[in-house]
Amino acid sequence: MFDLAGKIAVVTGGSRGIGRATSIALAEAGAFVLVNYRSNEEAAKETLRLIEGAGGQGELLPFDVADPGAVDRAIQGAVERHGRIDILVNNAGISIDQLLLRVSSKDLEMTWATNVGGAVYCAKACIRPMMRNKWGRIVNVSSVVAESGNPGQVAYSASKAALLGITRTLAREYASRGITVNAVAPGFIETDMTFDLSEAAKQKIIDQTPLGRIGRPEEVAAAVVFLASEEASYITGQVVRVNGGMYV
Ligand code: NAP
Repeated sequence: MFDLAGKIAVVTGGSRGIGRATSIALAEAGAFVLVNYRSNEEAAKETLRLIEGAGGQGELLPFDVADPGAVDRAIQGAVERHGRIDILVNNAGISIDQLLLRVSSKDLEMTWATNVGGAVYCAKACIRPMMRNKWGRIVNVSSVVAESGNPGQVAYSASKAALLGITRTLAREYASRGITVNAVAPGFIETDMTFDLSEAAKQKIIDQTPLGRIGRPEEVAAAVVFLASEEASYITGQVVRVNGGMYV
């Protein structure tokens, strides 16, 4: 439906879950997708196989988003090989779930370094190539809990709320350069991140969700593809909530 032919896209955390579905959906729309991951090479290769199986194109781009030097080296190399970066999806994320009384400074630091630092480092590395082309799309993957809060997720919800601040600030900083910056805020989506939840916890989430089910990674990916498209050119600084109505 949306045509991304000729665009070069970077998807952080593209090896699994929402990042994998997003990588495939962007490739199906015609983008060449650089599939980032941190350590799970097998899963990343499987994403690439699925991209190619769907008739798309891409390559692997391993780096730790929390390491600014590694981010710069990887993005610079990608720009040298492909000449441009058009689309950045800041999807890589971790959740370390603890109640306030148990959360450690290490939990906070690790969550912040990946979820917040990672998004800023990747945006910083991609913004010059985007400015040169006077066109760019940055989509940050936040979460419903950034706005609703969730017991046991003090570090995670803080990091995802920070992503919304980053989204709004970068939207204002780079609008004049033809670059839009938006966020998607998924509700509960069936991935490795939510795999360990008990059946009772999953049922509770379903009961709180007007659409009556947990979401699929492809349903988040569809919103990302739209925000990355030409058709979304008048949308910036916004949050698209893909949550089955659980927070309205
Ligand atoms: P997931 O299945 O756990 O996958 C996480 C991905 O992030 C993997 O590809 C992982 O790479 C990558 N990653 C983690 N740390 C990284 C790092 N330091 N550098 C590079 N890559 C890193 O997660 P998911 O459920 O798909 O979630 C994707 C995003 O959506 C996250 O930002 C998450 O917070 C957000 N989200 C998820 C849900 C949900 O219900 N699932 C809801 C709201 C928001 P490896 O494979 O190499 O480990």
